[in-house]
Amino acid sequence: MTTAIELADSVRRGETTATTLTEGSLAAIAAGNGALNAFLHVDVDGALSAAARVDRAVANGEDPGPLAGVPIALKDNLCTRGVPTTAASRILEGWRPPYTATVVDRLLGAGAIPVGKTNLDEFAMGSSTENSAFGPTRNPHDHARVPGGSSGGSAAAVASGMVPIGLGSDTGGSIRQPAALCGVVGVKPTYGMVSRYGLIAFASSLDQIGPLTRSVADAAVCLEVIAGHDPRDSTSLQEPAPSLVASLHDGVEGRTVALVRELLDGAAPDVEAAVNASAAVLRDAGATVIEISIPELRLGLSAYYLIAPAEASSNLARYDGVRYGLRVDADDLTMMNVATRTKGFGDEVKRRIMLGTYALSAGYYDAYYGRAQRVRTLLSRAFAGAYGRADLLVGATAPTTAFELGAKTTDPMAMYLSDVYTIPSNLSGDPAITVPFGSGADGLPLGVQLLGPARSERLVFAAAQVLEEGAPR
Ligand code: GLN
Repeated sequence: MTTAIELADSVRRGETTATTLTEGSLAAIAAGNGALNAFLHVDVDGALSAAARVDRAVANGEDPGPLAGVPIALKDNLCTRGVPTTAASRILEGWRPPYTATVVDRLLGAGAIPVGKTNLDEFAMGSSTENSAFGPTRNPHDHARVPGGSSGGSAAAVASGMVPIGLGSDTGGSIRQPAALCGVVGVKPTYGMVSRYGLIAFASSLDQIGPLTRSVADAAVCLEVIAGHDPRDSTSLQEPAPSLVASLHDGVEGRTVALVRELLDGAAPDVEAAVNASAAVLRDAGATVIEISIPELRLGLSAYYLIAPAEASSNLARYDGVRYGLRVDADDLTMMNVATRTKGFGDEVKRRIMLGTYALSAGYYDAYYGRAQRVRTLLSRAFAGAYGRADLLVGATAPTTAFELGAKTTDPMAMYLSDVYTIPSNLSGDPAITVPFGSGADGLPLGVQLLGPARSERLVFAAAQVLEEGAPR
């Protein structure tokens, strides 16, 4: 399959045009989206005019940038000026943001062509994209199965070949888990590396934006484009984007990689076998592989399901029917707020708001939220200890391959467990990547996860490249 880098190179050399690539992507979406429901909105006019701008630049002898003419899909919690942005919620249906997310501006600046907005679990709360108010997305490898979530629309769009690159957001695994279930690469960068300006907030101390792609190299190019300081996000690191492409082939010779027991606990046998095989690939490439245990990781899920809902309950207070989005009229202001939120939010979002409000309420704050924050510190220290012994950690991305639609919708706890291996790096703020690594017993794709300390993206990507080259075909 042609990579984004190859496509951009052929546009830059004048061998093809951005318009041709964009028309190809739009045609693939038109043909496939009825079955997959990966896109909630396709911006035909916006895409074609962006493509025309890139083609004019090439004709004038200018270089439109490293993603020249590459069609990209944006998770629909990224604001796009004048283009509908819903977060897959009825409460934002019909809303057109007055501003554009920094990541989208940077992609446009690098020549990329945003073709549309992809489906997600409402406000990014979920692991299957079944919590969308606009119907679930289906896994391109098996339409009876979920694509994972919450960035399931972007994962399905990339895996089905509609676009070479999708953007997602990852608060507890929402880039990596769907990437693994759809057989693509997914990256959760270091907290603060990518600006969240224009990302509809879920849990602000955890949210990061990152790429979903068909190759590690494409993810590296995309992250180089979207990363780097942004004064409009106060959590943005005061440093330029790392150069990832230049060190992509540095390998893992002389590095120590630790297989983490807790990142395999409860994994299906085929997933465990893939992780062990990936460790062998790293060993063959010159790394020393050790096995370690980080017991604190077992506390991650519980801490996350206090911290994330607590922050969500606060972030979602702004959807009150007053300034934008849905309004359900009632006799007075309070009843209008209640009626709007009752109609506008789905069940999972309501569950999170209730959990979070409870965790933050007077008398319970210390017992729940305060304690979860202390666990978070413990977990970060445990990671730091592990990075004293190893350069990188390896484990599963998700416990199983893609599950059937409906399999977990009535059991929130079973759904939450889909992210048991991805949540810890959101709590610590460290980077992690999932790389497709063969398939499971059912023939569906599965992914292996590599984790590194904060700002170690160069190393993480170089190791991911080794895994990609050594993955079973
Ligand atoms: N599945 C997790 C949740 O529902 C993670 C979501 C995410 O990363 N946005 O909260």
